[in-house]
Amino acid sequence: MLQDGSWGRYHGPHCDRLHDALAKFHDVEHVILCSSGTVAVELALRSVKVQPGDEVVMAAYDYRANFANVVTLQATPVLVDTLPGVPVLDPEQLQLAVSDETKAIICSHLHGCFAGMAAIRAVAAERGIPVIEDACQAAGGCLYGKAAGSIGDVGVLSFGGSKLLTAGRGGAVLTNDATLAQRIRLYTQRGNDAYPLSEMQSAVLLPQLQQLAERTQLRMLRVRQLLNALPVDSPLQPALYPDSTENEGNVPAFYKVAFHYNPKKDGGRSREDYAAYARQNGVALDPAFTALHKTHSQRRFRSVGELPNASALHEELMILHHPVLLQSADHIDALAAVLGS
Ligand SMILES: *Cc1c(COP(=O)(O)O)cnc(C)c1O
Repeated sequence: MLQDGSWGRYHGPHCDRLHDALAKFHDVEHVILCSSGTVAVELALRSVKVQPGDEVVMAAYDYRANFANVVTLQATPVLVDTLPGVPVLDPEQLQLAVSDETKAIICSHLHGCFAGMAAIRAVAAERGIPVIEDACQAAGGCLYGKAAGSIGDVGVLSFGGSKLLTAGRGGAVLTNDATLAQRIRLYTQRGNDAYPLSEMQSAVLLPQLQQLAERTQLRMLRVRQLLNALPVDSPLQPALYPDSTENEGNVPAFYKVAFHYNPKKDGGRSREDYAAYARQNGVALDPAFTALHKTHSQRRFRSVGELPNASALHEELMILHHPVLLQSADHIDALAAVLGS
């Protein structure tokens, strides 16, 4: 790449190769490479024609920029509760959230938990509402034997700095719908690509994609080992959705591993203090997302019910960052020892 000068080009062999490799890996017809996961979500919303005044349903515990993207399009986020104890949208609450104004449903696979895509798709199909599957945290994961990101009408990946596939920045939109793909191309092509992924970024991503399946397996193995090694009286309890545990057809992808933190099991130490303690001991553990209804003005969204489960996640959830999951088995035992006390 350095010799032939292709890194300096806007379009070239590396973008083409990455495009083809992502299409093959996810078994989808159309891949649009773009500049970030956040942009990919915006393009997905535009592809299904979200307009001012429309509603877009999402979990009250979700990635912040997803909410902001909906607001950017002058549409209204409709927040629904998560399932109890896990950071994924509750399909039954979804049923109560959809209206004649609903133009899209965003569902995110977060912290090693898959959203219940089958149930979500069933609700969406009844009303003809497109599902945007945010797989930014789940690259390499498989649900029902399909690659995460290929199950919704439109899927979204991030290649941001901390992600499982990373070029420091970047993203992609995946779909089997030619019309949606064409809308995105029309929107992004302005005689020049307005949201490009560069040749250099593509070149960095290609070898990572080749290693992804193997690394996904190793991370899964390490999570299992960590959970087995965690003492029963640890203040941390894993937050895992049944669908995310491995079985035939399901391979969870761990960008983060989520835990509930119980201060009562830790002499009343706060979650923030526990995170500081973990950090001091070399463990990348942090308080998780803030819930969307806790941090945005009520004027910005509509909500369905009181959102008790998302509120609990807002208070309790902690997330372990993924790089440690590629370390040795001994390292995981040492990690469990730190987290157990
Ligand atoms: C990181 C992330 C994004 C956005 O990706 P960027 O490339 O950082 O813009 C979107 N959704 C989720 C769930 C993410 O974790």
